[in-house]
Amino acid sequence: MKLFNSLTMKKEEFVPLVPGKISMYVCGPTVYNLIHIGNARPMIVFDTARRYFEHKGYEVNYVSNFTDVDDKIIAKANEEGVTSEEISERYIEECKKDMAAMNVRPATTHPRATREIDGMIQMIETLIEKGFAYEVNGTVYFRTRKDPSYGKLSHKNLDDLRSGERSLLVTGEDQKEDPLDFVLWKPKKEGEPFWVSPWGDGRPGWHIECSVMSRKYLGETIDIHAGGEDLIFPHHENEIAQSECCNGVPFARYWLHNAFLNIDNRKMSKSLGNFFTVREISEKYDLQVLRFFMLSAHYRSPLNFSAELMESASNALERIVNAADNLRYLRENAEERELTDAEKELVSQAEAFAAQFDAAMDDDLNTADALAAVFELVRFANTNITASNAGKLIDFVENELSDLCGILGIFTQRKEVSLEEEVERLIQERQDARKAKDFARADAIRAELLAKGIQLLDTREGVKWKKI
Ligand code: AMP
Ligand code: ZN
Repeated sequence: MKLFNSLTMKKEEFVPLVPGKISMYVCGPTVYNLIHIGNARPMIVFDTARRYFEHKGYEVNYVSNFTDVDDKIIAKANEEGVTSEEISERYIEECKKDMAAMNVRPATTHPRATREIDGMIQMIETLIEKGFAYEVNGTVYFRTRKDPSYGKLSHKNLDDLRSGERSLLVTGEDQKEDPLDFVLWKPKKEGEPFWVSPWGDGRPGWHIECSVMSRKYLGETIDIHAGGEDLIFPHHENEIAQSECCNGVPFARYWLHNAFLNIDNRKMSKSLGNFFTVREISEKYDLQVLRFFMLSAHYRSPLNFSAELMESASNALERIVNAADNLRYLRENAEERELTDAEKELVSQAEAFAAQFDAAMDDDLNTADALAAVFELVRFANTNITASNAGKLIDFVENELSDLCGILGIFTQRKEVSLEEEVERLIQERQDARKAKDFARADAIRAELLAKGIQLLDTREGVKWKKI
């Protein structure tokens, strides 16, 4: 299997440190809001990588953190008049709900930065002892120039960086020995969460969190470190500097980075107003559609999000589910007998799609080509499998289809929507329609529910419903 390693900028044959095992760290979200569909891209693509590694027989130790102390969390807490902990707890829970709905499996461990402060203090102490860090007035900085290999991931030259960074110095940072030095520990400010440390009360810098959590849960050298491409510099470059200067061994052997998700061909951002949370998308689509959409492109290609592309993802997914439904239907009355020679030939033809799928995934996790193999199998099933085939053949094709989709985290079974879920969804839609003064739509929903035998009651405590 080949993976593109950002460190060497080449596709390399993947060889794990320990045969049969993979240790993998994926930088997780900062939890101050519902996650957006950009955050969902690394979650989906690296969850798919994990599933594929497991399919190849590896045991995967998958760690993904929650950054639960950060300026944005503190700002949100102050805005709402609650603690930072309340904000991060709330959005970790919401993030886990979105992950489940996207069929992103929970990590083996989801460490939280605020629970790992002791380890961070220890690593900073070691860096100071070794001369790689220094303290000034309660702030600890990393001495970037002391690390001879700094810049190796982002392929930046220290002198170029320096001339660029000189102008970036902000007030209060003139105490640094060098503009390139970055913060490992910062002193507390009024109203901020803090921890006691040898350098006074304060909190850790962002980069040190991942160095420490990766070492604690996976060891000093890990196989794969992953995240979005915006993290290459400075976050991942700084993680490497801290970890390698502290531990004296290579930090991560393969670095995987996903490209960005854009909206309507423009960078997704709050200020442009082209910003969707995963939750918003879930009101319109089953999140299987979002997952399918993300996997329809290679993870290193920029991906454009638009209503049209989501519609075509929805239709394509429907074709897979229809084919699987049809196979299950044919299976019900199929004959229990041995395969004919012609059917044996069909089995070997079908097997070729699984090999095609694996070849695509072995080529730097090319999910776009892997999906093409799935569609060839769908076409094959639709044209070759009939009611007169042996049950064994139909089973074989149906299992192959659901196994390949399963590796991508895609279900081939239609989700059963309970009556309660359906009613709640329609009630919500009716409330939204009323808010938007679309009373015709609101009335139509009431009528639609009535036709299903559900009566809505507008009460002071909100909308209630009963079966009639
Ligand atoms: P953050 O919460 O900003 O630290 O981001 C969490 C993860 O989402 C990181 O791996 C980011 O690189 C990734 N990410 C953020 N925005 C996007 C985007 N528009 N497209 C793809 N990945 C993104
Ligand atoms: Zn990180």
